[in-house]
Amino acid sequence: MAHCWYGMFMATCGNCDSELSGREWRGSSYPYCPRCRVFWPNPERLALVHAHRRSPPPSATVSLVYEPNGTEHRDLILRVGTWADRNDSYYFALDHPADQEPDAGGSVRAMLLGWLAAVETCADGEVAWLPHDFSDQHSGWLRCLRRGDAFEIVDGWAGLEGWAFYPSHFEEAVDRLDDFAPYDDFGEPERVERQQLLADIRASLSLLGRGGA
Ligand SMILES: [Zn+2]
Repeated sequence: MAHCWYGMFMATCGNCDSELSGREWRGSSYPYCPRCRVFWPNPERLALVHAHRRSPPPSATVSLVYEPNGTEHRDLILRVGTWADRNDSYYFALDHPADQEPDAGGSVRAMLLGWLAAVETCADGEVAWLPHDFSDQHSGWLRCLRRGDAFEIVDGWAGLEGWAFYPSHFEEAVDRLDDFAPYDDFGEPERVERQQLLADIRASLSLLGRGGA
């Protein structure tokens, strides 16, 4: 019988609804989702995520979904297979011309269009770098290594800070990635057919256009 941290109604993962279990971290046990490999140490944050959750595009292996919750935090979720990495839209809200209002959804859209271009132009044996996490002291990227008609995808992070480049123009930052490291819990690369990856990105763009912006 799993221990229930938050009572009956909040004991499931905010990303995938799996039942949470305990996992040790620095000497203490915290609620953890073994499916998407995410800790949920803060019950208020978990409740907020549940309240604003949107389903990812059906049948997509790779997706990026914006779930506005009014805080600009924990509202942008990347999925690769069962893996999930949830981050903040804060820097996306700062990604706009000086004479225009903040539009985090518009920034996510521009970035996803950049993803499409990067995947479409990536040659065999080369890497398409797709950012998704803009944080104060690092950025998170998908490393997509093309092998023939498929990509081998790994999620990880680099020391390049999220404020050092804009989501809508991330291409200019790729040359500054020199310390990318895969996340330990990600595991083996996820293999996705090239056409499937392009369709997945278009599905996230489409979802963004249906009230997700
Ligand atoms: Zn989960």
